[in-house]
Amino acid sequence: MTTAPLVDADPSPLDEAEFAALKAEIRDYVEHEGERWTQLIEDEHRVPAELWDELRGRGYLSLAAPRSVGGRGLPFARYLELIELFSRPHASLRMIVHVSNGLWRSMLPYANEEQIDRFVKPQVAGDIRVAFTLTEPNAGTGADIKCSVTRDGDTYYLSGQKHMITFGHTADYLLLAARMEGSRGSDGTIALMVPAHGEGVQNNLMADTMGVIGTDHAHLIFDRAPVPVENRLGEEGDGLNVAVGGFLVPSRISVAMTCVGLASKALDLAVERSKQRETFGKPIATRQAISFRLAEMATDLEAARRLTLHAAETWERDPSAGAKESSMSKLFASEMLQRVTDGAMQVFGGMGFFKSPIERVYRDARAQRFEEGTYEIQKQTIARELLA
Ligand SMILES: Cc1cc2nc3c(=O)[nH]c(=O)nc-3n(C[C@H](O)[C@H](O)[C@H](O)COP(=O)(O)OP(=O)(O)OC[C@H]3O[C@@H](n4cnc5c(N)ncnc54)[C@H](O)[C@@H]3O)c2cc1C
Repeated sequence: MTTAPLVDADPSPLDEAEFAALKAEIRDYVEHEGERWTQLIEDEHRVPAELWDELRGRGYLSLAAPRSVGGRGLPFARYLELIELFSRPHASLRMIVHVSNGLWRSMLPYANEEQIDRFVKPQVAGDIRVAFTLTEPNAGTGADIKCSVTRDGDTYYLSGQKHMITFGHTADYLLLAARMEGSRGSDGTIALMVPAHGEGVQNNLMADTMGVIGTDHAHLIFDRAPVPVENRLGEEGDGLNVAVGGFLVPSRISVAMTCVGLASKALDLAVERSKQRETFGKPIATRQAISFRLAEMATDLEAARRLTLHAAETWERDPSAGAKESSMSKLFASEMLQRVTDGAMQVFGGMGFFKSPIERVYRDARAQRFEEGTYEIQKQTIARELLA
């Protein structure tokens, strides 16, 4: 394992004024360019390469990574303030930012110097696209994975299937967890950087999704796909540690903050609508039924934001801690998002059911109940710590 630091020695690369300027710039970007991309993605059902290029050109894909690998080295809690903003326009835009700013966390602690140059730095720079590849059609997500490799000299041969892989169809590499053939549990797992369109890889584009429109998802079938041993991150047996070890806890917190950002968009839309829509001679905002609903939504949202920041602080203080808090924030924030988007939809009345910003937010929100684990999986993590 390399000794490359997960965070830079200097934890504050930007002073308060510089960070405030960056945040204002991003707020302006998501409210203007972000909304234009939202319209285009919803109309055309695709994420144009130009959007990736624009985000990369503005430096938004390398905000969180340490400066030692080409990132801007923002402290995690500061990055969360930005991901909250990126979650307000289209979910596919946020997905690009989230994935690009998060994947290095899996790779960096296990990459050797050569792999840092070949995979980590180009990923942080946005020169290569990497897709996080864990979920399988015929197994549970974790020590149950069935994708397997055999080794012959300097080559692994990979067989099995993965599906629902975000940006897997357009990726250059798959950061993939498999197991040594014949092994069981976590011990025989292995993490490989697999060329996404290499020999022995059938890379199929999956059907359209209900929300997060435009992001491609891959169903991958591997038939003795050759992968050089030099593409292995960590040792044989480290597979799940690479895939979920240092990555999952901050990623769940980042997903929780995504829920906060998307819910704030839903709330803003509902507040605006409640002031404009008049029935029986008065704006519906003047009715207690509506204003109390909005008040409950705002309270719910703020509680989720605070719990998420608490999880972030816990993890930043001690990166080996925070699993319970991270799952609590993901659980609470994704349930909050469900309540808030449903409440916002109700404020819109029947018009909310027609194609519109609130209808898009409602669809995008549902995906957050899967990303980085379902409710049930979060509850298992929390209960495990409680009952230990
Ligand atoms: C839009 C989208 C993008 C995705 N992108 C990626 C990606 O980039 N990379 C990737 O690897 N995966 C990705 N996934 C997969 C995602 O992580 C999984 O959908 C999620 O972890 C749930 O796993 P599953 O779908 O296999 O559900 P299943 O395991 O089939 O679970 C079905 C239900 O049973 C429950 N359940 C399962 N096991 C247990 C248990 N032991 N105890 C109690 N309840 C249980 C689950 O909580 C769920 O409610 C994506 C999914 C979606 C929808």
